[in-house]
Amino acid sequence: MVTYIEPAKELPVYHYDVVVAGGGTAGVVAAIASARTGAKTALIEAKGYVGGTMLEGGTTLHSFFTLGKYFHRESRQIVKGIAQEIIDRLVAVGGSTGHLEDKLGIDYDEHCTLIDVESVKLVEAEMLEEAGVDIWFNTLVAGADVENGHIRGMIAQSRVEGRIYFEAKTFIDATGWGDLSAYAGADYIVPKEYSIANSVGVAGVDVERYAKYIEENGGLTGITYGPRDGEEGQIVRIGASFWKVLSTLMAAHKKAQGKDPGYTEEELARNRIPVNVQKEMAKLALTLGITTIHENYFMYLKVNYVMKEGLSSQAEMTKAEIELRRRQAAALDLLRKNIPGCEKAFIARSSPTFCTRRGRTVICEHDISNAEILEGKHFDDDICYFGFHDLAPKYHVGGDGSYGIPLRAILVKGIDNLFAVGMMITTDYDAYMSTRNTVSCMGQGQAAGTLAAMAAKSGLPLRSIPVETLQTRLKADGVYLG
Ligand SMILES: Cc1cc2nc3c(=O)[nH]c(=O)nc-3n(C[C@H](O)[C@H](O)[C@H](O)COP(=O)(O)OP(=O)(O)OC[C@H]3O[C@@H](n4cnc5c(N)ncnc54)[C@H](O)[C@@H]3O)c2cc1C
Repeated sequence: MVTYIEPAKELPVYHYDVVVAGGGTAGVVAAIASARTGAKTALIEAKGYVGGTMLEGGTTLHSFFTLGKYFHRESRQIVKGIAQEIIDRLVAVGGSTGHLEDKLGIDYDEHCTLIDVESVKLVEAEMLEEAGVDIWFNTLVAGADVENGHIRGMIAQSRVEGRIYFEAKTFIDATGWGDLSAYAGADYIVPKEYSIANSVGVAGVDVERYAKYIEENGGLTGITYGPRDGEEGQIVRIGASFWKVLSTLMAAHKKAQGKDPGYTEEELARNRIPVNVQKEMAKLALTLGITTIHENYFMYLKVNYVMKEGLSSQAEMTKAEIELRRRQAAALDLLRKNIPGCEKAFIARSSPTFCTRRGRTVICEHDISNAEILEGKHFDDDICYFGFHDLAPKYHVGGDGSYGIPLRAILVKGIDNLFAVGMMITTDYDAYMSTRNTVSCMGQGQAAGTLAAMAAKSGLPLRSIPVETLQTRLKADGVYLG
């Protein structure tokens, strides 16, 4: 490949105590916690709003609670602190349903918490402003200046100021993709064959008729009632079995085209759809479960794509963006033609870019295993509790339904002033399917932000602050630690 040597350049330097890279699910909470603990804090975000994948993946926050009914015990709320404050602020402006109980889905997420994505963008930005965080929007983290396992500074590309240098005592990588950790030379793995999505907001729909269709086709796996545009007792979430409903849909679709669906009614009833037909259906890669807190709106429908090269091929990333939009159009067409209530459906919003379920996984000092989650293990250095497993009902969190995320799990190995928080921790895939969820990310963020600020203020290295001092502060700030 032909190369070009970029000339060295003098960059303006900005000084902070704590710099948080990435203003998404974990990063927002980390920055609020850091600023409230008294540190001069900057939040660097590539987009023009905060919220991250919490707004662009699914809109059911998993989960503030442990499973109760399934185990014939009380369900308990085990995540509080700033995460709960965000929900309270959202509820106050009609931007969240608050915590609701599902009527059917007791073995997956008995409780769900739905958010309106546009409300989150403003509410979280205001909370950051109130805490005194300097928000740098439209600014991309682009490099790190590292000496002997210590980050001296972070380089970023601001749309307005160009290339700039952030000097800070502690850094928090909350980019989801592990960008800062990679620039800083941390070890990481990049998963291949990974499923990405661009979830779309679909308007012009009749939620009740849609739910009826899913139910009549035997696909209803969950249903939650709550406030829709302020009116209580409305359907706000529908859980739907993909295969059951999609196979019926495909059959109708093919019949309309005068084609053989490729399987018999009996095979369908026995859930024995031939593999080649399953593959054809999977090409649509549509998830039929929806959430909504508005009339005539699905917030979101998920359209998926598996990236063969993972996230390391620029060409495949570009292809994926276009292919996802093709699939959105195909999914919309399928809905409009076949599902009652969707005749006038249209895509009202999509994410500015696809979102990934997994980016780089950064190697931290402790790698949470699925065995620890299934045991419901707690550690001396727990910094938050969590109790949801995305692979339920195959796996459930053991013990009392909660496990602990230890401080070591967010301390990046080999770098003395860097945290990794959010979906970038946990290399064990099964365990990851628990720790990556939004509410876990928020819990991690509060701990990282608090300790980063404590270290910056005291001048002590991160690892020399007694964990009990951090835990005492977290509890005082409303975090649940048993
Ligand atoms: C399709 C899909 C559906 C999901 N459904 C659910 C669900 O229903 N419930 C649930 O609980 N979880 C769900 N998840 C998982 C969950 O949403 C994510 O794991 C979690 O939100 C990740 O949070 P994070 O803070 O690690 O990253 P993000 O929230 O993605 O935050 C990262 C932020 O960093 C910014 N950024 C990235 N790189 C840079 C850079 N170089 N410079 C500056 N800024 C940068 C991004 O713009 C973003 O704002 C889903 C995920 C996906 C992909």
